[in-house]
Amino acid sequence: MPIWIRGGTLLDVLNGTFSEGDVLIGDDGRIAALGTFPPPEGALILEARGCAVLHGLVNAHTHLSQTFMRGLGDDKKLIDWLKMVVWRLQAAMTPEDVYLATLLGLVENVGCGVVALTEHHKMVNSPAHSDAALRAYREFGLPTLFAYGWNDLGEGAPSLDAIIAEMERLRAAADGTNVRVCVGPMVPWRCSDAAMGRTFALAEAWDVPFHLHAAETQDEVGLMIARNGMRHIEWLAALGVLSPRTQVVHGVWLSDDEMRLLQRGGARLIHCPTSNMYLASGMARVAPLFWRGVPIALGADGSGSNNSQDMLELLKIAALLAKIETMDATALAPRHILQMACAEGAAAVGLTPPELAIGAQARLICVEIETPRSAPVHDPFSALVYNANGGDVRHVIVGSRVMVKDRAVQGIDVAALIQECTRAAKALLERAGIS
Ligand SMILES: [Zn+2]
Repeated sequence: MPIWIRGGTLLDVLNGTFSEGDVLIGDDGRIAALGTFPPPEGALILEARGCAVLHGLVNAHTHLSQTFMRGLGDDKKLIDWLKMVVWRLQAAMTPEDVYLATLLGLVENVGCGVVALTEHHKMVNSPAHSDAALRAYREFGLPTLFAYGWNDLGEGAPSLDAIIAEMERLRAAADGTNVRVCVGPMVPWRCSDAAMGRTFALAEAWDVPFHLHAAETQDEVGLMIARNGMRHIEWLAALGVLSPRTQVVHGVWLSDDEMRLLQRGGARLIHCPTSNMYLASGMARVAPLFWRGVPIALGADGSGSNNSQDMLELLKIAALLAKIETMDATALAPRHILQMACAEGAAAVGLTPPELAIGAQARLICVEIETPRSAPVHDPFSALVYNANGGDVRHVIVGSRVMVKDRAVQGIDVAALIQECTRAAKALLERAGIS
């Protein structure tokens, strides 16, 4: 059934322009018409008057198994947060916990206007845990880059051969679905040089991203220097794994030389401002990198360090943090922030550019901006970045599927899911001995 979006402010995030009009999405999930026209017979009508209509946001880095960990990391440093909360709960999670946490995280993401995301998959306790996460992503149907997280150093770490075999198994299981499996070194100081080289070669052979946490905290940089005398990006460059397929998540503590290396290598930065503030990790030098042409996408990071997945809220945080980091109120305009969230995000997860044009894949969101929070609207880009939040998302359409209609996530009993997750999370905390 064609979908007719009636009367919104259409934002072209690639060009930074906007106009009033309707959108028609054909049965093939592509934009069939733009402008002002009557609805075709039998079309599903979505009311968008008072809404900004634009390409949806891309959450380019998250860990949805952490949905059960919201609020438990409040007021802890990164290492304490990992040791006292994340690692303990991860060890106690069952595959069913992972499935439920992922599903709830997906409901939250899409409800806040996310149309694609990258899961940096941490739950590698057993193949069943990974299968449970994969099942949630497949069932939900949102375009997903599934970065398989691995560490081959440290107590109990699997062998490199076992890591590669598991990645190959998951890649085969996801073949032909909405999920694309890629390589995701998890903790740099626990990844050997040999494993980095071999898994990067695998990413090249598969033509998928190489997605890793790097330079998140000063302590981590110290650990890298103590290990081999190099900072994170210097190390990646020395290993020959710094390329356009490399996605550096966080990159908070980069020297001037590392910024140059990142630019020269063509690597992508995934900026997670809320998480960096929550854990007091620091401020990534995003504006200077952006103006040098380094591609920057945005990520919520897991709900263990956020505590939500609200990417609209995060736009404002990214804009404000860039101003404070540079002490320059002109550091990044709302259009630049939306470009990161939509265009660079789409590129990071391997989707086509977010064109608002006939024939383009529909991945559209309708966000209410004629609200007491946002009105009167003089500039819809500004209203989206500085006023709107996830609660303002009215509709989400991905291809020919309406995933959110009138604020309700479709095809799932959200109230029942929340109840089930609350029960499962309580039992998990008891098993892990966290009160
Ligand atoms: Zn992360």
